[in-house]
Amino acid sequence: MAGADIKSVLRVFVLTALCVGVWFLAKYGYARPQVLGPDAPATQFSEARAYATLGRLLGAERPHPVSSDENAAVRARIVAEFSKLGIKASTYTAFTCNAWRGFAFVPCATVSDIIAEILPGPGRAVVLLAHYDSVPAGPGASDDESGVATVLETARALRAQNTKSLHPVIAVITDGEEAGLLGANAFLENAALRARVGAVVNVEARGTQGRSLLFQTSPKDSALIDLYSRAVQFYSTSSLFAEIYKRLPNDTDLTLFLKQGVPAYNFAFSDNVADYHTPLDLRRNLSHLTLQEQGDNMLAMATTLAATPFDRLHGHAEVYQDLFGYVLPRIPAGWAAPLAAAALLLMLFTAFRARDIGSRQWVRAALMPPVLIVACAAMGWLLHALAQWISGQPDPSYAYPIALREGLTLGMIAAVVLVARMAESRSALFAVWIWFSALALITAIFVPGLSPYFLFPSLLAALAAAARLAAPERAKLWPFALPALLALVVWIGLVAAGESLMGLKLHPLFTVPAAFAAMTLVPFLDAPAMSRNAWAGCVGFALGAALIATGIAGIQPAYSRTKAQRLSIRYVEDRAAHNAWWVLDAYAPLPISLRAAAAFAPQPAPVVQGPFPNTYNAPAGTPRFAPPSAQILQDAVFPNARRISVAIKGSDKTDTMLVVVPKSAGLRHFDFRNEHLDVPKDFASDMTLLCNSRDCRDLDLALTVANHTPFKLIVLEERFGLPRFAAKLVSARPNNAIPSQSGDVTLLATSLDVSAAKPTR
Ligand SMILES: [Zn+2]
Repeated sequence: MAGADIKSVLRVFVLTALCVGVWFLAKYGYARPQVLGPDAPATQFSEARAYATLGRLLGAERPHPVSSDENAAVRARIVAEFSKLGIKASTYTAFTCNAWRGFAFVPCATVSDIIAEILPGPGRAVVLLAHYDSVPAGPGASDDESGVATVLETARALRAQNTKSLHPVIAVITDGEEAGLLGANAFLENAALRARVGAVVNVEARGTQGRSLLFQTSPKDSALIDLYSRAVQFYSTSSLFAEIYKRLPNDTDLTLFLKQGVPAYNFAFSDNVADYHTPLDLRRNLSHLTLQEQGDNMLAMATTLAATPFDRLHGHAEVYQDLFGYVLPRIPAGWAAPLAAAALLLMLFTAFRARDIGSRQWVRAALMPPVLIVACAAMGWLLHALAQWISGQPDPSYAYPIALREGLTLGMIAAVVLVARMAESRSALFAVWIWFSALALITAIFVPGLSPYFLFPSLLAALAAAARLAAPERAKLWPFALPALLALVVWIGLVAAGESLMGLKLHPLFTVPAAFAAMTLVPFLDAPAMSRNAWAGCVGFALGAALIATGIAGIQPAYSRTKAQRLSIRYVEDRAAHNAWWVLDAYAPLPISLRAAAAFAPQPAPVVQGPFPNTYNAPAGTPRFAPPSAQILQDAVFPNARRISVAIKGSDKTDTMLVVVPKSAGLRHFDFRNEHLDVPKDFASDMTLLCNSRDCRDLDLALTVANHTPFKLIVLEERFGLPRFAAKLVSARPNNAIPSQSGDVTLLATSLDVSAAKPTR
């Protein structure tokens, strides 16, 4: 190999090492606080005290979904913890329905919230918010009993600080969050309680580890971000997370509080999502560091909010992004577009002055950045598809992500070196930064939260360009090293965060940000100066290594004992069809041991009518339990409508009652206890009512429908857990599979035929 070749291959190595180094810093090098022990000063948040509180709250770590006996036990323990601190706590019980996400699924339940008076004061209160219910499948140690323990330790520290508060500080510990934000909904439906809310700090979990991320604030958050930057020691936030979160099918109680227009902060941790909503959400799996961070954040914000007049919390929209937790660069969102436009103009002018624009070389250079993005995304798609094909699993790197992560990284090195030859380094430099500042402008207008990722590096690049204008003969490439480094930090930070949120299954969240990071390094790679052999050798070697790593990813098992396949077992009886079924999730192929235990159909299919996903089903004999009863009490027919009153009764083992009203009925509104819900005019699909508390076993419902045609009402009684004769199937579930969400359940179906309307005389 010639000396020049060695030098250019070395450049590929050094730049790759730089990217990998930044990734390690982003993943493990963040500023994190000290975990405080049991003897920490009383005015501080001590993780050890909070962890001990969490242990007392959880007791035997049993699931405690809304309305269960264990739910009542946990509630009593929380009230006792507050009174141990000398804080008066009361409960508020109400029945509520919440159609905040449309009418395809409408959850309802009787819920009991806990309201505790932490500090007295005049006017509206600072609300410390967390939920104490868990999903039926798991004990919810992180989600969100850790939040309750955080509120309790914060409350203790606040009272120990003994400072005078401008506002009352109260804790609202909600019930039924997992069932559909029902505790928060009941609280906010009560005008007197709603009127107490002045500002909110919510603590949540979507995993068991990781940083306590400020991932959502109320809109026009400049004043809130300002307070946060002064109150908190280490930062973990970005205006991008709120943009992403808006687009995810996830919600917390804060969604409903934000609708009230109050200033609010939402903190959550989200690493190790494998344990989330499963029996593995245990206290021992909660990271001590995470709990300390979550507590530091809540105490800092509670202390600051208590001392700040609420009218000072309103400002303008801000865009921001922390760097490794130490600094929090931020600007008003309104400045992003003009600054981006200025950077773009300066970049174009510099390129023009360098006589770069207009040459044929320039066209190829201008195309390099988009080609690079497409090449990296395509490489990700290809390698992920290969790993899927080898393993036969939809998410082959779920349990062991390292091999596929290496594969994707090597594949992207191949793609970057391949594409980098399109442009010599000076043209590439201008092309990259013109694209970056143009994207800063576009995102500033359409996705402002994302704009810092383009804008902040572009501003540094604009300074570099200005330096180049001032001294054209001296400043060439190196002034652009700093903006490139900043681009690496922000974009590779996103690569790491994206993977911990979504896994490599969502590989574009890995490859596209990585491509933006790599793009700024292309001018330094100077690939056109490489010999053909060195260039082709680098591409070929990286691609070969990528294929080997991806092959290993495909051969490794997709699931493990700690990163288990989500596989709840349902026993479903349909008395009308004289059938009983074993029903299993069909996201991933069924484990062989389960196929051996019952005669599951090869393809997923629906088992009962309604808007439910297809499942793997096996016959389970004939029905053995009495189904719920359903009868029509009243049927009043009007020219354009029909009002049908239905009485539904389940057994005393009912945990949830589901009622499916088919689209053909033309549902307009329904009345259910104290709730009257109007179905929007444009709603045209089946509506499933999920009544989530045990009192739903006795359910009177009045449906007003538009059509006079006959239809069938499906009613399902749900009991948590399986009948005894399911033991064989449960023991066939391998130890790398685990129930999640509602867990293993028994469903008893019945249907009620509503005949065509006869006009009343
Ligand atoms: Zn939660």
